[in-house]
Amino acid sequence: MFEKLGLGDNLLKALDALGLEKPTEIQEVLIPLISSGRDVQACARTGSGKSAAFLCPLLQRMLDKPEPDKATRCLVISPTRELAQQLDKHCRDLAKFTPISSITILGGEGFKEQQARLRKNPEIVIGTPGRLLEHVERNSLLLDDLEFLVLDEADRSLDMGLQDDVTSIVAACNPQRQTLLLSATLKHKGLEEITNRIQKNPERVTLESHRQPHENIEQQVILADDPGHKQQLCNWLLSNESFEKALVFTNTRVHSEELAVFLIQQGLRVACLHGEMLQDERKQVMRLFRDGKVKILAATDLAARGLDVPEVNLVINFALARSGSDYVHRIGRTGRAGQSGVAISLISPQEWNLMESIQRYLNLDFIQRKIDGLPARFSGPSKKSAKKNKSRKGDAGKAKGKKERNDKKGAMKDKARQRHRNKKSVGKRRQPRAPATSSEQTANQDQAGAAGLAPLKRAVKSTAKKEKGS
Ligand code: AMP
Repeated sequence: MFEKLGLGDNLLKALDALGLEKPTEIQEVLIPLISSGRDVQACARTGSGKSAAFLCPLLQRMLDKPEPDKATRCLVISPTRELAQQLDKHCRDLAKFTPISSITILGGEGFKEQQARLRKNPEIVIGTPGRLLEHVERNSLLLDDLEFLVLDEADRSLDMGLQDDVTSIVAACNPQRQTLLLSATLKHKGLEEITNRIQKNPERVTLESHRQPHENIEQQVILADDPGHKQQLCNWLLSNESFEKALVFTNTRVHSEELAVFLIQQGLRVACLHGEMLQDERKQVMRLFRDGKVKILAATDLAARGLDVPEVNLVINFALARSGSDYVHRIGRTGRAGQSGVAISLISPQEWNLMESIQRYLNLDFIQRKIDGLPARFSGPSKKSAKKNKSRKGDAGKAKGKKERNDKKGAMKDKARQRHRNKKSVGKRRQPRAPATSSEQTANQDQAGAAGLAPLKRAVKSTAKKEKGS
């Protein structure tokens, strides 16, 4: 079936060796489109076969027109080192029966060794933004001849933290290149403005929107009172649920370490992955997890993007993802390539509203689950605040709130205008009192001298106190 997509024998042989018989939906659409030379923005569900969908046609185009004397022909920018390594492995597997070579350029590795590998002039370079930019700036990565630029997980690569590096790299690329942007979530505010600068009239492809329910992933929530309760629930789930491999997400590096330590103390074999670890440690952890030597990984969102680890069929959100799109990427580590999986989010009282907003974003209701013996005291917002939220929602939420605020502002302005028209505004100034008699003036001056306080105010205050006290 891949034959119909215009791929040559060497690539077909590699696909066959990988056991990939039939193209996925995204591959059927993207392979011919990318082969035509158009710039493309592709938005497809995680685990849908996106990597082969862009690697196959790019490899084929390089095979069709060999350019042995050119510098780097294809650059793939990845937001994380782990994803870059995974892409490189996939690329090597696909290019196995061809003369095309690829390398990774990642932070945390020896710069000189990377320079030596770049001097061998591989056709494809796959890397993370910071280190790629360093090589561009030191002229060890030449992008003048670049034919293909790919931004994988493009919304993340163009996120605030990485955007400057990525745009500097793009500025050094041959302007006559073909540019591909891929992700499961490509609809971020402000993204279009940047993509317009780096792409030319791109063809936009959206398949199986990430906001459609993912039928292979059962999405559950369990209410939790506090972090200690979450730890107990997490331990229970990892000890009682049946799974091949589990990924547990936290929102910070410190929390991922704390959780891993806690779970190890409970007798579970757990590894930890976050961005502050050394590159060798990160590689080692990923190897152990991929090989199944460690079956539970406590990680930050570093592991949320694009990672394709076979047999992950349980994802636990120890802390809920900060946005709907981050949630989509996290749970997308399971239910990949037709497999099924379960995603369980532990919800504290502070995360209830975020959970509701993610439900609205995905247009679904999570399945609420309870664990016998570990019930939560928290059972959702109080009836009063739920009612308040509901009535707000029913009245079109934010729009109404804004309107109300504007109405109020308008009313205040009217009031102010009225006052101006009718009389002079005296603000909060107290009304001027009648001039004091000369005997009052002397008495007041005496009191002021003695106490150092304004006599009139003190007199009023003490009266008020007396009234209150009586
Ligand atoms: P990706 O979305 O590129 O990360 O791919 C997700 C998973 O789908 C990987 O394990 C691929 O090996 C697998 N895959 C890619 N293409 C196909 C295909 N045509 N048939 C079956 N599995 C595939």
